[in-house]
Amino acid sequence: MTRAKNTPAPNDIPIRIGVSRCLLGELVRYDGGHRRDPFLTDVLGQYVEWVPICPEAEAGMGTPREPMQLVGDPRTPRLVTIETRRDMSTSLDRFTEQKLASLELDDVSGYIFKKNSPSCGIEQVPVITRQGRPVRTGVGLFARAFMNRFPLVPVEDEGRLGDPAIRENFIERVFCYRRFHDLVRTGITRQAMVRFHTVHKYLLLAHSPQYYIALGRLVGHAARYRPKELSAKYGDLFMQTLAMRTTVRKHVNVLHHLVGYFKTRLGAPEKIELLGVIDDYHRGLVPLIAPLTLIKHYVRTFDVSYLRDQVYLHPHPNELMLRNHA
Ligand code: SF4
Repeated sequence: MTRAKNTPAPNDIPIRIGVSRCLLGELVRYDGGHRRDPFLTDVLGQYVEWVPICPEAEAGMGTPREPMQLVGDPRTPRLVTIETRRDMSTSLDRFTEQKLASLELDDVSGYIFKKNSPSCGIEQVPVITRQGRPVRTGVGLFARAFMNRFPLVPVEDEGRLGDPAIRENFIERVFCYRRFHDLVRTGITRQAMVRFHTVHKYLLLAHSPQYYIALGRLVGHAARYRPKELSAKYGDLFMQTLAMRTTVRKHVNVLHHLVGYFKTRLGAPEKIELLGVIDDYHRGLVPLIAPLTLIKHYVRTFDVSYLRDQVYLHPHPNELMLRNHA
């Protein structure tokens, strides 16, 4: 695991992400195979510590094993072997209960699940209804229990992570969750809350101006709440905001706000160049990293301390190149 350069890593404890074990190349699938995902093993794995879990193998079902499927009511399905029709739900539930308790101590800041799996899939998992009709509205039993127990922890599946925007958003949320979790762990005070909210200002704005204002109001009225209540309310809204998709338009709005901090200090040619790069980004000619690189250069040149600490400028390790897509 490599330390993320330029990214505010709150302390030395590594960022832990839960992951379906087969995605790391472990031979735990029902057929004795794996589904190694090179982005996870070769790229993301350099920056995080994995917490690998295979619910089926670790629940004692063996590898290889008979394949299973979800059966029954899509909201509360059973996990049943396809040929011999054995109901494995109780074994899996027993394992899940113990595992989730231990994950509390592991402090995972995210989870990447294997798509379509009756144990690990987070959405659109096939379910055979009581009428024998297949529908794709199921959620894997372990994944569902995880999401219920840790509602704020970002989750994705490896299929969705193939989309560059979803990948960036997920990793951004993982780092943000971790910072928020550290804030809670060290004890929320009004001052700490204001500081936390301030450094996330432009990142939140890039997701939702409305939610950014709502979070600001909450922090402004922090004195009305007990610390636990405040952290629950803020954490919930904070993670909800970050889950909202950014758009080119929202980014352009934020970029113009940032330019406002040093516009008067730029000469006419530099100003034209910078606004031109933002416009190129707006028109889809260059990726977000282009205007951001120029802005970061001016933040350093003019030593704009308020912007230097903004998470928006370094939400995750540069080496992951998550903002390089047009
Ligand atoms: S999808 Fe989940 S249960 Fe299936 S092999 Fe991978 S980790 Fe194990």
